[in-house]
Amino acid sequence: MHTHFFRLFSGISFLLLNAMSAIPGFAQPVAGGGAFTFEPVQCVTEKQSLAIREDLVASMKWLKTKGVIGDINMLSEVKFEWPVRLSSQSKDPSLYGISNFVDNDFTFPNKLKDYNCGTRTYDQASGYNHRGIDIFSWPFQQIRQEQGIVQVVAAADGVVIQKIDGNPDKSCAFCPGACSWNAVYVRHADGSVAWYGHLKSGSLTSKQVGNSVVTGEYLGVMGSSGNSTGPHLHFEVWTDDNLTKLVDPFGGPCNALNGNTSWWKNQRPYRRSAINKIMTGSAPPVFPACPGLETPNEKNVFAFGDPLCVTNFYQDQLSGHQAKMELIQPNGVVWNTWFHNSPNTYSSSYWYWNPWFLPNVAGYWKYRLTYVVTGQTVTHTFYHGNTPPVVTLKPGNWNDPSVWSDGLVPDINKALFVCHPVTLSEDRFIQSLVVNEGGQVIVENGKKLQVTNMVLEKMHQRVLD
Ligand SMILES: [Zn+2]
Repeated sequence: MHTHFFRLFSGISFLLLNAMSAIPGFAQPVAGGGAFTFEPVQCVTEKQSLAIREDLVASMKWLKTKGVIGDINMLSEVKFEWPVRLSSQSKDPSLYGISNFVDNDFTFPNKLKDYNCGTRTYDQASGYNHRGIDIFSWPFQQIRQEQGIVQVVAAADGVVIQKIDGNPDKSCAFCPGACSWNAVYVRHADGSVAWYGHLKSGSLTSKQVGNSVVTGEYLGVMGSSGNSTGPHLHFEVWTDDNLTKLVDPFGGPCNALNGNTSWWKNQRPYRRSAINKIMTGSAPPVFPACPGLETPNEKNVFAFGDPLCVTNFYQDQLSGHQAKMELIQPNGVVWNTWFHNSPNTYSSSYWYWNPWFLPNVAGYWKYRLTYVVTGQTVTHTFYHGNTPPVVTLKPGNWNDPSVWSDGLVPDINKALFVCHPVTLSEDRFIQSLVVNEGGQVIVENGKKLQVTNMVLEKMHQRVLD
């Protein structure tokens, strides 16, 4: 699928590029960022693809003899919903984008044509023309894979006709000997079959071959198993029980397979410009080489004088698209506004401004980003002040904002200050612990903290063994 590298813009040219209405004599933050780019590698070899199709045809024949699946019913023509969702743990607007479509030019190499007559696809000298849609996770794809936040779901009702699990899922290149992916295959009532490939090992649905799934049902976590260079979903569709005819779900002028007929209930635009995430941090995010875990440097509690970095993450940011950024004081008054015009078109990109030094105004500040051309606005709240916010919690789930007195779900690895001795959780996920006055609660990656049967005033009495 893809390796990634970053084109970094130097601060100075960036500053020249973008007008900032900063406070006179105020230290200008250095800006940086750019593209998060993917170089395609063959998702499935021709040999693998043939073997998969033979296996699926045999499985469908067997399921027919068992009466589990019936003959093709063209009256129930399938229309897909989007096959990716975010787990309830995520608070971000979006965490993915599209890197490659089906290649509708069947010649090769480098003869590329996507359904929209563009070149957002790939082929190989081996004769492989990309047969699916590649939906990647962005940003922090390695962390998200660990956390299981970007999930693959059934695009339509159907029957599981095959599932493969247990293969390594941290691929970063085309594997010598072409390693196998983890995948789920679903057959629909109209005889079409959908492939969900590169899944995270051990994350697959417990549904077995022959079981039914419904639209939107969980199938697994986006991973990087098989020939892949980063967490992404390869979504491939064939029309008939013998898997002889490939489908490009995106209908359009250059779709050589099914023309303008879209297989989506609501086909997404070719370019869907959107904010995936914004964040505050102690420094710009760091993206190591695959499969290294990213270092977001995310931070939401700042003391006076602490440097503040703000970062925006996008999908399909187009050249010239303008973004408006604002830092807003606790009283609602905008402290600073600046603009950024995208210097290029990207499937995935990010931009940061670092460091800002805020005036000594204590309280909950806001960082707000507006994607001017679409009007999408995302706001992030963070605390600034020498006395960190006193946070208390009530019975409930860590991810439920109402548990927290300030209504903010703390992020992973964030320090919190709890004003009372707290006896936390009999939950088998976490060892119970006691947090003393002024103590800290630190939550590790992938762990879940649950607070049960506790009301504030009772906390003092409960001391853990
Ligand atoms: Zn692919």
